[in-house]
Amino acid sequence: MDSVNYSDLYDRMTVDECRRYTRHCEEQAEKMDGTNPENEIKRQWSKVVLEIILHCVAGERAINKQEAIQKWIERDRRLQDFQDKVQPPKGVRCLRCSIEMSFTSKSLYETELGREQVLFFYARPSRCKPNRAFFDDGKEYPSPTTVKNVEVDCTPYTRLNFHET
Ligand SMILES: [Zn+2]
Repeated sequence: MDSVNYSDLYDRMTVDECRRYTRHCEEQAEKMDGTNPENEIKRQWSKVVLEIILHCVAGERAINKQEAIQKWIERDRRLQDFQDKVQPPKGVRCLRCSIEMSFTSKSLYETELGREQVLFFYARPSRCKPNRAFFDDGKEYPSPTTVKNVEVDCTPYTRLNFHET
């Protein structure tokens, strides 16, 4: 992804964050009793406060933008290199019929301890189940029955994604 797209993504996240503050403020206003005149004053004040908050959020995110984008680019590059470099384990066989399974895809995951790993997925051409998945260190993903084609329901592993637009 080029840096223009990273920039767009960052800006969209800024907009989302500002929207969250605005929505929160609106929700609070809706909860107030409309018949109480004091609440009208509170509502006006909260609008002023919201303006200040949005101003600060946008300002701070603008200051941090270049550094944040640089970090995203470096992380994505590092993960892409890692994913490209590691090779899928060979000779993986079906647990039922022992026919060699074909490597279908790979994804990045992070362990509870923050270690990044590539998980390789294997499937048989027929409907023989289960599929299997192996990490780059050769360890099998512990519960093969939960392995779908390209994804596992993966506690304690978290799927890692690249920054996408
Ligand atoms: Zn089989």
